[in-house]
Amino acid sequence: MKNKESCIAKLLCTSCKTEFDYKEKHTLCKSCGKVLFPIYDYEKAKETLSKKSIQSRNIYNIWRLSEIMPVTESRFQFSLGEGWTPIMHLKNSGTHLGLKNLYLKDEGQNPTGTFKSRGLCAAVSRGLELGIRDFSIPTAGNAGAALSAYATCTGTNAHVFMPEDTPKLLQSTIIALGGDLELVQGLITDAAAKCKLKTKKNNWFNVSTLKEPYRAEGKKTMAFEVVEQFNWSIPDVIVYPTGGGTGIVGMWKAFDELEIVGLIGSDRPQMVTVQSSGCAPMVKAFQEGKKLAEVWENAKTFALGLRVPVAIGDYLILKALNESNGTAVEVRDSEILVAMRKLAKIEGIMQSPEGAATYAGIEKLIDSGFVSSSDSIVLFGTGSGFIYPDFWEKTIHQREKI
Ligand SMILES: *Cc1c(COP(=O)(O)O)cnc(C)c1O
Ligand SMILES: [Zn+2]
Repeated sequence: MKNKESCIAKLLCTSCKTEFDYKEKHTLCKSCGKVLFPIYDYEKAKETLSKKSIQSRNIYNIWRLSEIMPVTESRFQFSLGEGWTPIMHLKNSGTHLGLKNLYLKDEGQNPTGTFKSRGLCAAVSRGLELGIRDFSIPTAGNAGAALSAYATCTGTNAHVFMPEDTPKLLQSTIIALGGDLELVQGLITDAAAKCKLKTKKNNWFNVSTLKEPYRAEGKKTMAFEVVEQFNWSIPDVIVYPTGGGTGIVGMWKAFDELEIVGLIGSDRPQMVTVQSSGCAPMVKAFQEGKKLAEVWENAKTFALGLRVPVAIGDYLILKALNESNGTAVEVRDSEILVAMRKLAKIEGIMQSPEGAATYAGIEKLIDSGFVSSSDSIVLFGTGSGFIYPDFWEKTIHQREKI
């Protein structure tokens, strides 16, 4: 089956509202330095985006709703089978926690084991369509693996900058997938500085979180899928482990788009951010009622995808939390650890620390009364537990009861 044509119309600054030509390469807004979003001709998209048409599509990757995705020519819609991940009803935990409608969307089943593949698939596909051959990225590991996979798949190059304490498996994965890997002393922010420098020097294209307009478009497909998997309705609560926030920002945009094209009404899920107490800039900003977050000093957590001390999209994350009547919670690393083991032992699901953080988070939301027993809740299990073999080796012999 042939994908429908993209109805992309322009790029729009999410802050100062300046418009830019989508046919040119853009990173951040040239006027104010904030994040750009692709905007589509939704009237045109509406002509073919009916529930019936979508359900008849034999396309189970991020290009399923290609009218409102940014790649215009189908030969540039690359895929390694990312997306259309299952939503599991956590029946055992539901009984355990007193939640009847607790679900987990298992993003660990994506290529390279995390949902990073969605964003990088979109960014690399669109980048190649715009003539880009060299992509660079600072990463805690997973985004680098995903970029390497899609660069290889599209015949382009991945230049990856990563903290040197990143687990060995991720390092070898990136090299195996053909990525050009450079280890950097310090945190992802240090890797970002190095990446920026080399990118300028070599005329590469930097696909850092939200610093170009297309990764969030790949991630927004998670919202498309949740809605379709819930039979065109909306869950009450979405719990998302937040680092740079591409996913939460992308999904929040996606719900508006689905409403504009008439696929859903004005209902929205309450969006919840979970972070580690060792790096919780968004939780702090949300609790203080701020519109921007401050840099988190001495960020420290073994959930490396959440070790992001400063996010360029902070204002967009906080907007999604506030507009959706959501909230933000922090969980300790020790609680994430227990949650990983609980998901494995109670549900049979091997999750990453970041994904399991949502499970630790939901326990807090029950205690605080934010969720009630009949709410439908979707946790985002953002990565597979299988990419953290050291963790399981270390903890498997611990005897305390889960
Ligand atoms: C990157 C990452 C996150 C954080 O995602 P953002 O969209 O940047 O907030 C969460 N979980 C895993 C497994 C990741 O790799
Ligand atoms: Zn602007």
